[in-house]
Amino acid sequence: MMRSLLLFLSTAKLARRVFMAMPFSGRLVRRFVAGESLDEAIAVTQALNAKGLLVTLDHLGENVFTEADANKATQAYLDLLDRIAVSKVNANASLKLTQLGLDVSEEVCLQNMRRILSKAKEHGNFVRIDMESTAYTERTLRLYRTLRDEYDFRNVGVVIQAYLRRSESDVRQLAAEGTNIRLCKGAYMEPPELAFPEKFEVDANYVRLMQIYLDQPALNSGAYIGAATHDDKMIAATQQTATERAIPKERFEFQMLYGIRPQRQQQIVNEGYKMRVYVPYGTEWYPYFMRRLAERPANVGFLLKNLLRD
Ligand SMILES: Cc1cc2nc3c(=O)[nH]c(=O)nc-3n(C[C@H](O)[C@H](O)[C@H](O)COP(=O)(O)OP(=O)(O)OC[C@H]3O[C@@H](n4cnc5c(N)ncnc54)[C@H](O)[C@@H]3O)c2cc1C
Repeated sequence: MMRSLLLFLSTAKLARRVFMAMPFSGRLVRRFVAGESLDEAIAVTQALNAKGLLVTLDHLGENVFTEADANKATQAYLDLLDRIAVSKVNANASLKLTQLGLDVSEEVCLQNMRRILSKAKEHGNFVRIDMESTAYTERTLRLYRTLRDEYDFRNVGVVIQAYLRRSESDVRQLAAEGTNIRLCKGAYMEPPELAFPEKFEVDANYVRLMQIYLDQPALNSGAYIGAATHDDKMIAATQQTATERAIPKERFEFQMLYGIRPQRQQQIVNEGYKMRVYVPYGTEWYPYFMRRLAERPANVGFLLKNLLRD
């Protein structure tokens, strides 16, 4: 119930306007968002890098409906990639295709992605295409493949959501193609025909998909997996599979979100694994923040405590 309500609120325009205007919201959001500016994001990245953590930077924003807005988001990513290069931080970029105009047209989105990937290639960097709701899954994978053929596996990768029933077939294909994927459980509200409704089913599918990917033939074809999860069971299953199959720690990575389980993040680094932290920044933090609340009821308690403090 709570999850559905929060996911609904994450897309509700009025709720967004009210929440973003509240004086307390900035302080609350700081737990999950590096700041509103690129300077703040780079400072957070430097601090994480100093502790041995890798970073992926996300300029917050989703669903733009005009070419002008899509161009603005594109420019933000071009600036981000330049800034990563100049400041020599260890970071790549994550983005959403709806930010770059997927709702305007696939062609607009593709043109913007080409500008961004040309910049990534110039700097020898990598861009991860986040996965959004099922309204976009097919188009996202199609555009990913077009771009991967024009650029390189080293410049672009995509995300697979373990809650989707279709993901096993996607993962088998992507592994054979040598794709760099991030595997996550999935953060949107989806109908049971498309997504497993029960947590135990999603968890079992996560392990199944990870095991398909963390496989010598797939790795030999260049496949790479970022196991994105805060769930100790998923982390242990990934570590166990890699150990049993003698897969070196540098052939895959773990990923977690900024502000969630930072001590566990550090522990994983100390055990010799790669850990990449997803660091969002920018003014459009509302839907991202609401999805993080939806993932964990305890976060709503945290929100209410802060509301009462004001
Ligand atoms: C790096 C990264 C990138 C992602 N990219 C995408 C994407 O492109 N598309 C997409 O749909 N989803 C994305 N997600 C979100 C993901 O799909 C899940 O919604 C989210 O990670 C929660 O699932 P979990 O694997 O952590 O397991 P869960 O079973 O949800 O959680 C396991 C434990 O982790 C902790 N935890 C989890 N979430 C939170 C939270 N919000 N606050 C505090 N503690 C928490 C709790 O201790 C919880 O018991 C991403 C997640 C990560 C880590």
